[in-house]
Amino acid sequence: MTEPTPLSELPVAIIGAGPVGLAAAAHLITREIEPLVFETGAMPGAAVSAWGHIGLFSPWKYNIDEAARTLLGSTDWVEPEGDYLPTGAELVAQYLTPLATTPQLRNAIRMQTRVIAVSRLGKDRTRTPGRGDTPFLVRTQGAQGQVEDHVVRAVIDTSGTWETPNPLGHAGLPAIGEPAAREAGLVTSPLPDVLGRDRAQFAGHHTLVVGAGHSAANTLLALGELREAEPSTRISWAIRGSDPASVYGGGDQDGLPARGALGARLRHLVEAGHIEVHTSMTIAELSIASPAPTSAAGITNALTVTGTTPAGAVSVDVDRVVPTTGFRPDLSFLREIRVDLDPIVEAPTGLGPLIDPEYHSCGTVAPHGARLLAHPETDFYIAGMKSYGRAPTFLMATGYEQVRSIVAAIAGDQAAADAVELVLPETGVCSSDIGSSCAAPESAVSEETIGCCEPTPTECCAPDEPVTIGIPTGLTHGRAAGRTSD
Ligand SMILES: Cc1cc2nc3c(=O)[nH]c(=O)nc-3n(C[C@H](O)[C@H](O)[C@H](O)COP(=O)(O)OP(=O)(O)OC[C@H]3O[C@@H](n4cnc5c(N)ncnc54)[C@H](O)[C@@H]3O)c2cc1C
Repeated sequence: MTEPTPLSELPVAIIGAGPVGLAAAAHLITREIEPLVFETGAMPGAAVSAWGHIGLFSPWKYNIDEAARTLLGSTDWVEPEGDYLPTGAELVAQYLTPLATTPQLRNAIRMQTRVIAVSRLGKDRTRTPGRGDTPFLVRTQGAQGQVEDHVVRAVIDTSGTWETPNPLGHAGLPAIGEPAAREAGLVTSPLPDVLGRDRAQFAGHHTLVVGAGHSAANTLLALGELREAEPSTRISWAIRGSDPASVYGGGDQDGLPARGALGARLRHLVEAGHIEVHTSMTIAELSIASPAPTSAAGITNALTVTGTTPAGAVSVDVDRVVPTTGFRPDLSFLREIRVDLDPIVEAPTGLGPLIDPEYHSCGTVAPHGARLLAHPETDFYIAGMKSYGRAPTFLMATGYEQVRSIVAAIAGDQAAADAVELVLPETGVCSSDIGSSCAAPESAVSEETIGCCEPTPTECCAPDEPVTIGIPTGLTHGRAAGRTSD
């Protein structure tokens, strides 16, 4: 009988080869632990590629992980200029692809391999004795449908949230008729390439963009540009809030100026009448016209979108709906794992109150690491975009510090795991309240819910007025500050 491989000699599984998953792999390499990365896409950064036409709001200097830089430093990689703002496609081409093809990582990544379940070897979720010393079992499915089991010592889930967008309807549920409209292709991806790949769907047609935030702003600006070239293009925008001004942010006060500029340009498009804004609207129903009508301009309005507003029901006939209503984590493959998630945000419990969009609308969250991100399941972590659950304010730089700390904890170096440090640019609306919010009720943020290294809530509350910086991903100081947006 062959002896089982000691736990410490097994690889660490990483779910997803996005920026944070690859950074985790690089940190494992620096600690001489073998990474085993599973990526469902055909290339590293598959989710980023899907929005490759979008310009990032953070420049290169915030987008490169330290351990990744070290690996790349021993190749002929030329580091991009720090202040340049790459597009998603450039992030993949100039950073993620070179990183994934370094000699240390190229054989560690299994492309077109989806993780479909995580468990402990021989132990379902209810089995406790010896659980922490039992290897994990990661089940994957390949492109041809082949299922494989992998035995690993720890799991870092960095699978992001791109594949699980929120539905259009209110109450967190799909609007009536939404599944059929999605199936018919009338509801697009959250960030279609309006001026490139997907142009034909929008040019000379009527598009309704639903939602407020960075993604909505990007799509509306692209549609505005398309309208200049194709004047029959119509743009409508539905938001839950009562005033689109809450989406524009702080313009030139933004710590990430590209983000501030977006808001200023959007304001101009709205004020010039190029965008019809429907405020205080929640989407109730989508119905596909049958047969599709044709307007005088030859435009078909294939879909009627009905929303509720304080003034009653409003219907808009459109050709496409772009849903920019945020994302939520896919927890389905974690059923056999003991996870501890905040009941509101679906982020790790300690992190949830720090990023709850009800009270926060900023990317400026205190640095945090393994301790705050731990679950009852020893050596299992959710990091990166997925660690923010339903909160929209995640920054890559935050994820890089998360995985540096997590890998240190897995390696047994608790001192390094606890030494979380990160200087982030100021974004969103909370430069004066690092990590917590003056708007948050005391029950939402307590010392127990804040990790060992975060400042206490009392440090935040000097000025009464929050500083407004950039396009908020929620509303001013979170939704609590703008009740009409609920
Ligand atoms: C349009 C847009 C612009 C953004 N701009 C910025 C910015 O300027 N600066 C910034 O700091 N942040 C930005 N972000 C936020 C965030 O940093 C990015 O979304 C970043 O890509 C998150 O990295 P990640 O590795 O956590 O997740 P992702 O990049 O989403 O990577 C997750 C990977 O996991 C794979 N995957 C998913 N499920 C599975 C599975 N079951 N099995 C195997 N693989 C799986 C996916 O294919 C994907 O490649 C932006 C986000 C968006 C959407």
